Amino acid sequence: MPLLLSPAERVVALVAHPDDAEILFFGTLRRWHEVGAEATVVVVTRGVHGISVADQATGVHLDTSDRLAESAASFEGTGIDLECLGWEDGALRPDRHLVSAIETTLTRLECTVLLTHAVHDGNDHQDHHAVARAALNAATRVPSCATILHGQPIAPHHSIAGTVLVDITNHIEAKLKALQAHQSQSGRYYLDEPFTRHRAAGAGWAKHPHHAAAGRFFEALAPSLLLLPDPPEQP
Ligand SMILES: [Zn+2]
Repeated sequence: MPLLLSPAERVVALVAHPDDAEILFFGTLRRWHEVGAEATVVVVTRGVHGISVADQATGVHLDTSDRLAESAASFEGTGIDLECLGWEDGALRPDRHLVSAIETTLTRLECTVLLTHAVHDGNDHQDHHAVARAALNAATRVPSCATILHGQPIAPHHSIAGTVLVDITNHIEAKLKALQAHQSQSGRYYLDEPFTRHRAAGAGWAKHPHHAAAGRFFEALAPSLLLLPDPPEQP
């Protein structure tokens, strides 16, 4: 069994919006859960502002529970827990309030592996930037948290190199289905099959072409902390 995919881990995917965890980590969370680890998705906001300006002009709006219901549907039956901190999306800042809320959550969940957005200067949603910075700050005060991995942004013009590849070939179809649960976001390229397959194959072509050539699919993560512990002593 790969060293990081341990049943002893308590994995927390901390993301800004409903759909972020599915885009960045769906297969990764499934991999950890299937070896027996606890896996929890924590969504900071309800994502009610996640509609296009054009749709807003035609009177479309989202209720506070709409997008979380979509996330609940996409993780239904997986055994992966889902919770929401209930913040308003669009203007998150990595201030003491957000840092404190995240620290409290990671401590309560006894997080050992933190998955979150990437810290970088390229294009990305402003809430992703804020959550990544607040999560990194908070994690320094959570003793159990020994591994921190960042998802590759879907926005172009970033410099994050995903050097940790998680083989999600056995979960790519389930991931595609999970993304389709986000009906309120339909029409966005990053939820559709061509992009998802291209990105998952491209991660392999970029870093491990032999596996990509064999038809494997991956989620690519960038580490900011990896603790490889001593193995437990044999009796
Ligand atoms: Zn997002």
